[in-house]
Amino acid sequence: MITALKPLTLIIVTLLLTSCANSPTGRNQFLLISPEAAILESETAYLQTVGALDDEGKLATDPEIMGRVGRVTGRLVTIAEQDFPNSRSWQWSVAIIDDPETVNAWCMAGGRMALYTGLISQLELTDDELAQIMGHEISHALANHTAERMSRAMATTIGVVAVGVAADNSATAMAGAALLANVALELPNSRVAETEADSIGMELATRAGYDPEAAVTLWQKMGSLSETRPPEFFSTHPAPENRQATLQQQIPSMLALNPNRTKAQITEIEIVR
Ligand SMILES: [Zn+2]
Repeated sequence: MITALKPLTLIIVTLLLTSCANSPTGRNQFLLISPEAAILESETAYLQTVGALDDEGKLATDPEIMGRVGRVTGRLVTIAEQDFPNSRSWQWSVAIIDDPETVNAWCMAGGRMALYTGLISQLELTDDELAQIMGHEISHALANHTAERMSRAMATTIGVVAVGVAADNSATAMAGAALLANVALELPNSRVAETEADSIGMELATRAGYDPEAAVTLWQKMGSLSETRPPEFFSTHPAPENRQATLQQQIPSMLALNPNRTKAQITEIEIVR
């Protein structure tokens, strides 16, 4: 009974604790769920999602790609933890999904990420471009964009959880709580959030030692791919207007942040397998 009530209690408590927060760019964020609660619920959803992928044998085991993703992401994490001290306690991890058809990546609250191999192979990503995509994903988590999306998801899924508890059906209640994080994952970010993640991500990547110009080439590649078949990525990351032009404008100030392109130390992160 206690386990059955936990998710509902959590959701009700967080629903009452409506909070106002500021994104790293100073934008006002209206949250129905605290960033801490978003991390907690994301953990359950992540473990379920990744566990299912593992059961189906869909996690990549190629040491080369695992090493490459670990090195690039580990450098970004070093800079992220410098700037956002609360992220030092996060369980930074990446699940590399062996799926050459899918061009997608995501990051949940608390630094738990997924990367589809199709993103690397179909876009023929360089390390600099890979750093831009992972920097972008990490920035969504750093800027509490997950909590924002979960706040929107709450309005649509709280009924599911309530039904589960009313029926004294703990399985349904538990599924409802994890569903919240999963539904949030499928909701598109706002274009404002996309612009924020672009610019924070570009700075993380530059200071980690990667070329900021790669932000422009990355989105160009993504754009040309969408002429034939829209990448899954765009369903949750809508392209802001003038994305490339906005990024291009920021390159000189980015270059000044790390003119010698010194590589940051690599923080060890988990590559899920
Ligand atoms: Zn995005």
